[in-house]
Amino acid sequence: MIHVEILDYIDTNGKFLIKGVSTAFINAIRRVAMSEIPKLAVDFIRIYDNSSSLYNEMLASRIGLIPLKTDDLEFFKMPNECECNGEGCSSCQTILSLSAEGPKMVYSSDLVSTDSSVNPAYQDIPIVKLYEGQRVICEAIAKLGIGKNHAKWQATTICAYRNVAKIDIINCDLCGDCIKECPKGLLYIDKELRVKNILDCNLCRLCERTCSIDAIRVSLDEYQFIFNIESDGSINVKDIVNTAVDVIENKLINLKAGVAEIGQRRRT
Ligand code: SF4
Ligand code: SF4
Ligand SMILES: [Zn+2]
Repeated sequence: MIHVEILDYIDTNGKFLIKGVSTAFINAIRRVAMSEIPKLAVDFIRIYDNSSSLYNEMLASRIGLIPLKTDDLEFFKMPNECECNGEGCSSCQTILSLSAEGPKMVYSSDLVSTDSSVNPAYQDIPIVKLYEGQRVICEAIAKLGIGKNHAKWQATTICAYRNVAKIDIINCDLCGDCIKECPKGLLYIDKELRVKNILDCNLCRLCERTCSIDAIRVSLDEYQFIFNIESDGSINVKDIVNTAVDVIENKLINLKAGVAEIGQRRRT
């Protein structure tokens, strides 16, 4: 039975305790969350004027990495799945324009979207500093994509898990040496040696090394994990995790269908 507990949550950052799953399962969620969650990012730029100190390529790279947020991600289709066959239409792309003249600092807030539901996730991302007389005029085309193809489509900035610690204490003589060594202050004596909050244990094993009679053993709990996930602001963490689970489910459905088809072919 899988048990999920939310330890910490805001839209862009989540910390979960997940029990009853294998390393393979949690790693599948991590990998899919990093590389297979569709999100919008600028994929093509038409630069009409650029007299700034940045080359066109650098300007394009900076704009491409600005996370874009939309209220209606499901409206957009992947270019290769769109009726336009990837030619570009309102179902698979949207345009943001930028027109700025120095002296000024150009920020992500200067990108003007033709679709009011698509906007930079943060308004204060610096793009380029323009001096007197310098100008940037361009049109940026945003499309759906996945992190597997380019980092600009990666919705997570942190996506990592670690095992919860397991601490066994046997034949302890209550000398207290390990208590002083624990950098997290987790150990204390109350009739016997106890651990305050196992989730805070960083598995450093200093307690184990200090004990001269091997009374304390630190190991990994193979079925309990702390999963940390941080979004770049384009999609909230809840949607990233839900979509990751859907993607894995679809992969399994396809695998099952594929295996059934092979079995069918063998019988005929
Ligand atoms: S576990 Fe070892 S070091 Fe810690 S109190 Fe017990 S005997 Fe002492
Ligand atoms: S492994 Fe490190 S953090 Fe965990 S209880 Fe031992 S000393 Fe403390
Ligand atoms: Zn299209």
